[in-house]
Amino acid sequence: MEINKFYINGKWVTPNGSEIIDIYNPATEEKVGHVVSGNEDDVNAAVTAANDAFAVAANLSLTERKVVLQEILDGMMERRSDLAQAISEEMGAPLKMAGSAQFGAGTIHFKNTLAVIDDFKFQEIHDNITINKLPIGPVGMITPWNWPLNQMCTKVASAIAAGTSFVIKPSEITPSAAHILAEIVDGTSLPKGIFNLIHGYGHVVGRAMSCHKDLEMISFTGSTRAGIDIQKNAADNIKRVSLELGGKSPNLIMEDVDLEKAIKMGMTQCFFNTGQSCSAPTRMLVPEKLHDQALAIAKTAAESMVTGNPNSEDTFLGPISNITQYEKVQELIATGIEEGAELACGGCGRPDGLAKGFFVKPTVFGNVSNSMRIAQEEIFGPVICLIPYKSLDEAIEIANDTVYGLSSMISCADIAKGQEVAKKIRAGQVILNRISRGDYPAPFGGFKMSGNGREHGTFGIEEYLEVQAVIT
Ligand code: NAD
Repeated sequence: MEINKFYINGKWVTPNGSEIIDIYNPATEEKVGHVVSGNEDDVNAAVTAANDAFAVAANLSLTERKVVLQEILDGMMERRSDLAQAISEEMGAPLKMAGSAQFGAGTIHFKNTLAVIDDFKFQEIHDNITINKLPIGPVGMITPWNWPLNQMCTKVASAIAAGTSFVIKPSEITPSAAHILAEIVDGTSLPKGIFNLIHGYGHVVGRAMSCHKDLEMISFTGSTRAGIDIQKNAADNIKRVSLELGGKSPNLIMEDVDLEKAIKMGMTQCFFNTGQSCSAPTRMLVPEKLHDQALAIAKTAAESMVTGNPNSEDTFLGPISNITQYEKVQELIATGIEEGAELACGGCGRPDGLAKGFFVKPTVFGNVSNSMRIAQEEIFGPVICLIPYKSLDEAIEIANDTVYGLSSMISCADIAKGQEVAKKIRAGQVILNRISRGDYPAPFGGFKMSGNGREHGTFGIEEYLEVQAVIT
């Protein structure tokens, strides 16, 4: 797609910025489009529109908000194949998966928000105190490339429900899903200026948004590196900064489980979306005495995953979304080998038969020590580390021995024990004995350097509200 217009104040406008960012298909390495990168003037125009529309957004009735949420959901259903095609082409997700999980991870937020909004308490009265939950004011939203619709839609659905206006800047690597979403919004009853879309580089457009004195909040999903920068840049006008950042999530496999089932489930969860999920359980903690057996199962599971053409029905692993990320994954695989981890399968270079494209061999490391770089750094590719533990206490210690705290998995036969262990894991989500596809409105967000925000459902709406007390 060639994107030469931004969507500001209900109109498609020519950007002030003129730099062109080329878009490449990571499976073919061929150019498939471009997007114009905005500049500070574009940020100012979009923020002015959001500011002017804020009172209108705040005054939308509950019914009007619900109508808009449903209209966007309906519009997305109509554009399903366009959205899937754009996501697959720009970040390499297998087309079938782009049309199911990637697409569904966007629509689910409108469905979940519609499911909770009627019961959401925008006002609570306690004796002589009335608590009003009021929209925070114009928000800047900055999103990454790995689940392009998911991260945008969770923010957009919650902000509309909360009654605020906003400016979105999606990743410069995957701009088309956002462009299509703006086309959908353009056909709804949402008043002009509430939804504004601009594009461009993070260090230019994202930074200008973070510094902007007329935005009351930044909702950011992306790397911890950028999150730190945004928080610093947002400090001068005391913006609320809601951060959804990276992870290095553990998967604690207890001794009493069906090992084959637990390992296969952990592998699927970790390698889904070609390992490019912030919540991927990339550190699989296994009882020491079951380590070799677990490693053999993980190797078989990895080797059965078909890597290749995203347009093929059988493909489970597409390419890594861009060259920078591809080189980082390759460097970390080489580091794991140098660090002395046991390479059960995969390794450096492209899989056999794939001479082009940013494809990575599904890679399983065994006997990993949690102090190794591959166990501490987010790799963001189809790479997993099996870490042996001697006791449950040691497993919990390893699980928490990370700067991150986004998600985690526990496989256990005894659910009560799993619940007890969950409370000791310093992470925003613990998935017990199941695959997670965000198909429920559970809050999502991190502890520690994984961020401070909570998205989805009622927690998502709360993010965009200020609390006011009226005392009589
Ligand atoms: P990234 O941080 O490089 O970019 C994300 C967005 O931020 C892009 O729109 C980019 O243009 C912008 N940006 C970059 N630097 C900026 C700056 N200094 N100021 C303002 N904006 C800036 O991340 P990415 O490579 O696109 O995405 C991968 C990362 O996102 C991983 O670390 C992953 O774990 C994380 N992530 C987190 C979640 C979550 O919910 N916690 C979800 C998905 C991805």
